[in-house]
Amino acid sequence: MSVIVTGAASGIGRATAIEFAKRPLAGDQAKLMLVDRDEAGLASLIAELNALGAAAATCVADLMDPTAGETVVAATLAAFDGIDALISNAGAIHMVPLAEISTGQFDMLMNINARATLVLGQAARPYLAKSRGAIVATASTAAENPIIPLGAYSASKAALVMLMRQMAAEWGPEGIRCNCVSPGPTHTAMTAASYDDPEARAARAAEIPLGRVGAPEDLARAIRFLAGPDASHISGVNLLVDGGISANIATSKSSAANKIENK
Ligand code: NAD
Repeated sequence: MSVIVTGAASGIGRATAIEFAKRPLAGDQAKLMLVDRDEAGLASLIAELNALGAAAATCVADLMDPTAGETVVAATLAAFDGIDALISNAGAIHMVPLAEISTGQFDMLMNINARATLVLGQAARPYLAKSRGAIVATASTAAENPIIPLGAYSASKAALVMLMRQMAAEWGPEGIRCNCVSPGPTHTAMTAASYDDPEARAARAAEIPLGRVGAPEDLARAIRFLAGPDASHISGVNLLVDGGISANIATSKSSAANKIENK
């Protein structure tokens, strides 16, 4: 089973590649195409995947390049036969209020967080149709909840969630399932500046019903589920993997709701 994982050099993408290697979806060996612009990060993963019994190849690409989809698919077909799943996970963030964000920063977030999945999906589509495969994209709880100062990031992830619903509608008849996972607060390189600090991590955990900040492996298991046969009749969903924080808006730290009472 041949799986493309983008953003594989770090965090959720890295954990996802390891999850597929440990528990191949079909047969006894995962075939993993690892994609990132961080060449050293990809190289550092190969030995671990090989030790787990997986075949792995790398493609160094900047996924903001509109030709990146063709590049990644060509590299995958050169290494393996066909494509069974595309995990479009690479993403980026800017903590800038909407009043200050530049059009360049806004375009960058839309390109990596939404358009990259389109160009990858377009290039992989004929092969996914042949395998009756799946696309899983990593969105965010920010797609459904405004978070200050992540306005442009939230908008880009909302665009991604709708893109995947639209793909599910347009490409479902070809046998391709298209879904999102949405991480809540998750401890990765992207959030290390916050969650490496145990006090900050504990403060965040206190806002999460399940009482902890997420780990990359929490997402990896959900991604593997959505990519695989156990999800064979699931398409167009956005699966929240957030410890319940999206269901818990009223208890966020600044909520005035805690002070409401009847007279
Ligand atoms: P991470 O920084 O650990 O990993 C992101 C990876 O994407 C990196 O290896 C980076 O090199 C790669 N990447 C970024 N831009 C790229 C580009 N233009 N071309 C190629 N590769 C590129 O972060 P993570 O937390 O594992 O993030 C994975 C996904 O999860 C992202 O889409 C992110 O938006 C999403 N997410 C993360 C959190 C969280 O709390 N960590 C929450 C919600 C959503």
